[in-house]
Amino acid sequence: MFGTSGVRGPVGEEVTATLAVSIGRAVATAGADRVVVGRDARESGEFLAAAAAAGVREAGADVIDLGLASTPAVARSVAWRDADAGIMITASHNPPEDNGIKLWTPSGQAFDADRRAEIESIIAEDGYSLAAWDESGGEETWGGAVDRHAEALADAVDVARPLEVVVDVGNGVGQVTARALAELGCSVTTLNGQPDGAFPGRPSEPTEETLEALCAHMEATGADLGVAHDGDADRMVAVDETGTFVPKDVLLALFARGEVAEGTTVAAPVDTSLCVDDAIAPAGASVVRTKVGDVYVAEEAAKPETVFGGEPSGAWIWPDETLCPDGPLAACKLAALVGTDGALSKQVASIETYPLRRASIEVDGKGAVMERVAAAVTDRYDEVETIDGVRAETDTGWILIRASGTQPLIRVTAEARERADADDLFAEAKALVAGAR
Ligand code: MG
Repeated sequence: MFGTSGVRGPVGEEVTATLAVSIGRAVATAGADRVVVGRDARESGEFLAAAAAAGVREAGADVIDLGLASTPAVARSVAWRDADAGIMITASHNPPEDNGIKLWTPSGQAFDADRRAEIESIIAEDGYSLAAWDESGGEETWGGAVDRHAEALADAVDVARPLEVVVDVGNGVGQVTARALAELGCSVTTLNGQPDGAFPGRPSEPTEETLEALCAHMEATGADLGVAHDGDADRMVAVDETGTFVPKDVLLALFARGEVAEGTTVAAPVDTSLCVDDAIAPAGASVVRTKVGDVYVAEEAAKPETVFGGEPSGAWIWPDETLCPDGPLAACKLAALVGTDGALSKQVASIETYPLRRASIEVDGKGAVMERVAAAVTDRYDEVETIDGVRAETDTGWILIRASGTQPLIRVTAEARERADADDLFAEAKALVAGAR
């Protein structure tokens, strides 16, 4: 039922009020006494949040209703309101017909595999402990999550000079970004600022293709920085002052370079570009690779030596603030970098990027094929990691061979500092898959 992003799917099919009640009951049955509940702007969010809250109260725990709020505001509110868990009703960047439910701990981390399994088994076994008639939980409304988030952002960041920033909220719930940047002295223009779960302005996932209007606006106005969020604002991507979309690996490298010192580490998934390693190596810092998914990046980011965690999907984690990817915080951090270090396009140019090759190969029985691939890769290369798929590092670059989660495909990636080396590694990796079919 739960993936690493919680439950997500079409409303009225996978995602129903019944499911929300069950999850609410299970969260309280698993031990939470106080639960914050928030939602994004999707129309179904109202009844799903009410259903989740009803389940929590029925199982004897108290609910703090946050109303409309971003995922980072809900995740951070768990600790701010001294609660034990958070329930966020969102389908993130999915289309309007979907919704979903994601669960949060006081550290700002999503429920890990063990806690998700516990919730699933309570639901599967109908193992709820419902409260006696006079012991059901109470409910209070707290409209302060967005204010508190804005304060936290203004406290965490300084912007050294007044910038012009364009914020594309994408009709989601990330309006706090505009407010925090204004408080930090920036002049802010907002695009698609009205929360609307039908996402009339643009598709909710912020990509180079969906951000045409923001790119055009940046090109026309020459504002210093453009930022955009997905529907629940745990993600942030950027456009520079020339109207060019900033590649997400490069954004990861810029954020990482801004945080590291000698001996520190940065957490990033196995498919992260070498440009991040090379950007932080001069400072004496290194990248620790994780499974793909911001939940795994957050787990690594919880370690004391980790100063930043990034997922090239646009999820950025500053563990001193919260272990939840916080899109508005990322927007403010990027404004701080531009304020201090100058034009974003120049900063982007200062990150050296390398040729990358990708292919998807159709296979039957991808599990067995991957086992043979892993054995062959381990035989052939010295530095091999099998955290997620199989990744080998050489003097010139790296390869990653990974099975698709949902399709009968094996994905092959190769990156090297020189073009010819990237071609060689790519050919080797494809040959290894061919040999294992
Ligand atoms: Mg999201």
